[in-house]
Amino acid sequence: MRESGGIKQFVLPAMMWLIFEAVAVALWLLTGERFYVFNFSYIGTSVAAGILLFQLRYQHARRVAQFLVGTYMLVYLGLICRENMQIEGFWYYLFTGVFEAATIHYAVAKIAGPLVFGRGWCGYACWTAMILDLLPYKMMQRPRKEWGWVRYLTFALSFLFVSALFLAGVNDMERMMFLSFLIGNALYYIIGIALAFALKDNRAFCKYICPVAVFLKPMSYFSLLRVKCDESKCISCGRCRRVCPMDVDMTDPSRKRKNGTECILCHECVKACPEKAL
Ligand code: SF4
Ligand code: SF4
Ligand code: SF4
Repeated sequence: MRESGGIKQFVLPAMMWLIFEAVAVALWLLTGERFYVFNFSYIGTSVAAGILLFQLRYQHARRVAQFLVGTYMLVYLGLICRENMQIEGFWYYLFTGVFEAATIHYAVAKIAGPLVFGRGWCGYACWTAMILDLLPYKMMQRPRKEWGWVRYLTFALSFLFVSALFLAGVNDMERMMFLSFLIGNALYYIIGIALAFALKDNRAFCKYICPVAVFLKPMSYFSLLRVKCDESKCISCGRCRRVCPMDVDMTDPSRKRKNGTECILCHECVKACPEKAL
């Protein structure tokens, strides 16, 4: 996965940028909305810049992309344009049969996209993790809990919440979705931060609570882009496991590796490996 210097280090960021540009142009042609060109060009350029900075060995490369995309989606799309990009917004647009805003966001970043870039969204773009990653527990300090089932509960609750709004015939659904965006985000941050401190694990919310992982996990299993382990170089020192924020067993090169669908492509394991086996 690690690229050597020279022209090679531009290949991956260029590929990522081109994928986003292709999506931008395709959506523009399909919908006639030029906004999609701006939107996906901005996101693609931010992600590509983050990957390029990583290739250039800049220590905070991933965080740069995370803040560029995360603040854009939270502040510009969410607070200024009043688009609910959370899972409730996805259900809302899905129920109304409108293929725009959250439905496109989910289709690209969280359903089809992970087939190519796995959980890159979680590592380089998510505005919830953008804040959680600032907390002090970057590596897990306690064994992982068996609480993954909670995400299916929050997934079902989000679906039932939006269904109930439709069944109740709420008049001003746009306003209701904006309110749910504000309250939902506040809850995510409060629960995410509290859980991180309680379990000494910045990414506890991602591991146990986040409903979006219900989409992300199965799709990222097939991801084209993944960190692989060269077993002939590995000396089983365990460093990769210790620095991984998601508790992925990188020493197993197969797709069935433990917690493999949780890899956020942060490359902390790659940086830590003394044998360049990753
Ligand atoms: S699991 Fe959820 S909260 Fe965590 S980074 Fe992914 S989308 Fe964001
Ligand atoms: S440390 Fe490695 S295995 Fe763990 S999430 Fe980051 S890239 Fe994936
Ligand atoms: S850090 Fe590298 S050498 Fe050590 S166990 Fe992981 S892959 Fe193997």
